[in-house]
Amino acid sequence: MNIQELIQRVRNKLSRKDDLSIEAVHGFLRVLEQVREDELSCVEIHQKLDEYVELEIKKEDAAHIMPLIREHLDLCPGCCEEYEALLDVVENSDQN
Ligand SMILES: [Zn+2]
Repeated sequence: MNIQELIQRVRNKLSRKDDLSIEAVHGFLRVLEQVREDELSCVEIHQKLDEYVELEIKKEDAAHIMPLIREHLDLCPGCCEEYEALLDVVENSDQN
């Protein structure tokens, strides 16, 4: 996908009503960047989070084995919270 071409297309669409402001272009670029970095959706993360937590519990290098999950957790406060809660539950149940 050519991002510049995409922006041009969006700009052409919008220019019929208003000129697309620089701010709007930058906002759009930020969204694209976010999408590119964040390859997995939150739903996919939630499905794999137990697997990730399991690796951590086993003292495996979870961040190395599942780097996309680690990356998402760094970017997404919601999933990070979910992960910490899950880790907490698993760690506590281990002690019983
Ligand atoms: Zn997320």
